[in-house]
This record gives sequence, structure tokens and C-alpha cells, in this order.
Amino acid sequence: MISKPSSGITSKLSLRNVSSEYIHRKEHTIALSKVSFDVEKGEVVAILGSSGSGKTTLLKVIAGFQDYGGDIKLDGADIENIPIRSRRLAYIPQNKALYPRFTVFDNIAFPLKLAKMPLDEMKKRVNKVAKDFGIELLLSRKPRQLSGGQRQMVALAKAVVNYAELLLLDEPFSELDEENKSKMCLLLKEVSVRYGASIILVTHDYLIAQKASNKIVNLEDGKVVSIRRSTDILSSL
Ligand code: ADP
Ligand code: MG
Repeated sequence: MISKPSSGITSKLSLRNVSSEYIHRKEHTIALSKVSFDVEKGEVVAILGSSGSGKTTLLKVIAGFQDYGGDIKLDGADIENIPIRSRRLAYIPQNKALYPRFTVFDNIAFPLKLAKMPLDEMKKRVNKVAKDFGIELLLSRKPRQLSGGQRQMVALAKAVVNYAELLLLDEPFSELDEENKSKMCLLLKEVSVRYGASIILVTHDYLIAQKASNKIVNLEDGKVVSIRRSTDILSSL
């Protein structure tokens, strides 16, 4: 079933006919072509596609790091008119989320430092989020002293710490074993509920998309080929 995007006015995020290309030495690579979908408030949307289908480009476009054509609305307003710092979104790039020289505490606190939050308030907030994620005992460690799963947990804590309303996560499960993948899928849904955040989750893994999301947008060669509720796929297996 391909559901048509709704009018988008009340959506957290809506994309209409979004296209993007890379130009390198006069060679054009079309990475996204007329992509349209909505992300509702508190929804987890998986962007599912094979390597090269445009998933990372899509996140970069929404995060404001990549030029595009078409319309993107955040809370009903043209995203171009909202300064990047005011967008209340957190972009966690694949495998590059943590600063290796910083402790876990300083990594999580970094978005708050940028926002110039007073130190006392910052400590309280980092400790609260660390507790929520069960990583409070790791706060003084450096990323290299963590397992892959712990690192991805810290990255997620960093994404929500500054009250982001939209999380853009590029392959956040890539370093996890099967058991931790399942845990992380549940955690993402919990984060969307507990923190009221909408989440766009990029993955090439169909089962992760199915488990972690409410809705799956399937990308192929930069085009949306289907948009389905996650349960539609389960029932068609
Ligand atoms: P995915 O994340 O799904 O693997 P990408 O968004 O990284 O896909 O890439 C989409 C397309 O854009 C691919 O054809 C890729 O080769 C191309 N592309 C990505 N980044 C660049 C870049 N910096 N310069 C030129 N082409 C790029
Ligand atoms: Mg990618």
C-alpha cells in the first residue's frame, strides 16, 4: 500500500518534491529525485534503502548541510526561514557522532555548551539523560573505552540532551550485535514517546526498519518507491 502524503500542515516535518544533486567536475549525480513524505509528531520513520539510494543525502538536506530543490516544512514553516540553530533537530552522522578526546560526559554536554547553558543546569541535564539511558556509570570514560553498543547509546543521549524535537539518525545500529539491535529498536520507540521526539532512522536493514519504526519510506535510486505502516509489512510476510 502506498499512502499519499497528507496536507502536511500539522506534521512535524513535511517534504514535497525534494531533489538534490552533487556536482563534481561538471559531472552531476542525482542523489534525490522528487522525494515526498511526512513525519508526524512523535513518529519514528525509517528510511530504508540499499547503499547509494540517497539516505544520507536526505538527512544532510534536512539538517541543512546540503542544497536541495522542492519544499521542506518544519512545524508548518519553510525550513529555509528557520535558522539552523533554531531548528531543534539533532543530526547524528554515521560513525562520527562522538569526539574521541572528550569523555562521555563532555560529549553529551557538548550541544548544551554550544547553547551556553549554565554549568549547574548542564550537569543536571546530562546526569538525568545519562540515567534515562542507563549509561551514568560511563560518564568519565572516553569513547575508545566503550563497546560499540555503548557508543551508540551515548550518541543517542547526545541527540536528545538539548531537547531536540527531531532526531536524524544515520545507521545508528551498525555497530550492534543482534541482541543489542533489538534493545535499541525498543529504545528508539521509547525515546520518541518519553522525549516527545520525532525520529528519522536511516537503515539498509529491513528487519530493523520493521521493528524500530511506525512507518517505512523505501528509497531506490533517490526516489520514494513505497511508504507503508510498519505493520503492513509484518502482515504481508
Ligand atoms: P546512501 O546513504 O543511501 O548510501 P548517499 O546519500 O550517500 O546514499 O548517496 C546517494 C548518491 O549520491 C550515490 O550515487 C552517491 O554516490 C552520491 N554521492 C554521495 N555523496 C557524494 C559526494 N560527496 N559527491 C558526489 N556524489 C556523492
Ligand atoms: Mg549513507
